[in-house]
Amino acid sequence: MIAPDLQTATETLRDLVETSRAIVPFTGAGISTESGIPDFRSPGGIWTRMAPIQFDDFLASQEMRDESWRRRFAMEEQFGSARPGRGHQALVSLFRAGKSPGLITQNIDNLHQASGIPHACVVELHGNTTYATCLDCDKRYELDWVKQAFEASGRAPDCPDCLGHIKTATVSFGQAMPEDAMRRAEELTFACDLFIVVGSSLVVWPAAGFPLMAKRNGARLVIVNREPTEFDDIADLVVHLDIGSVLEPFIAG
Ligand SMILES: [Zn+2]
Repeated sequence: MIAPDLQTATETLRDLVETSRAIVPFTGAGISTESGIPDFRSPGGIWTRMAPIQFDDFLASQEMRDESWRRRFAMEEQFGSARPGRGHQALVSLFRAGKSPGLITQNIDNLHQASGIPHACVVELHGNTTYATCLDCDKRYELDWVKQAFEASGRAPDCPDCLGHIKTATVSFGQAMPEDAMRRAEELTFACDLFIVVGSSLVVWPAAGFPLMAKRNGARLVIVNREPTEFDDIADLVVHLDIGSVLEPFIAG
């Protein structure tokens, strides 16, 4: 069913939430737009104006690593100041109420953790852009450190410990999906009885396979997204309204 209006959407979603014991949200860019994080893939989004840097090119070339870091620093104004929105607050409320064991996200903005969901309960399919790691020894580096090193030498720094390349902890185009995150996402998906897609158009595979997996496993499926998705037909509830407005009633206290 496609909710005809906000009240129907909220009431139907409340019924589904109250009759579920394990809710797994699956979030995409749409939940973070009210926090000021741009949707990279939307028309006019950054990937439609500037080709993303492929992982192999990052590995192969100091110039590409420099360019990648210059782009990341240029976006710090948006990422650094972003705060959780109403959607994030609603989902942490479900988590704290014991209704949700964790969530799966395509976002790299750290806003679910910032809202209060423990790091261990957020499965990040595309990684996290708010810190960096060495690609060889996995050591974590903060962005401030990378920026200082970059500004001091004019080049993207390598790991002082092992000389590996340092990259934001994101999954780049052309980089393998993280096996651990994929496995944990599958576990959550198979354990849930209500799967709620929030702000994802479900076009990026393999991430988009999870709603289908949940539905085939007997869970009920809700899709809250401004635009229609190709999974709308199999969903128990579809809402094409503003995410913050739909989820605001679920914010506790
Ligand atoms: Zn290293």
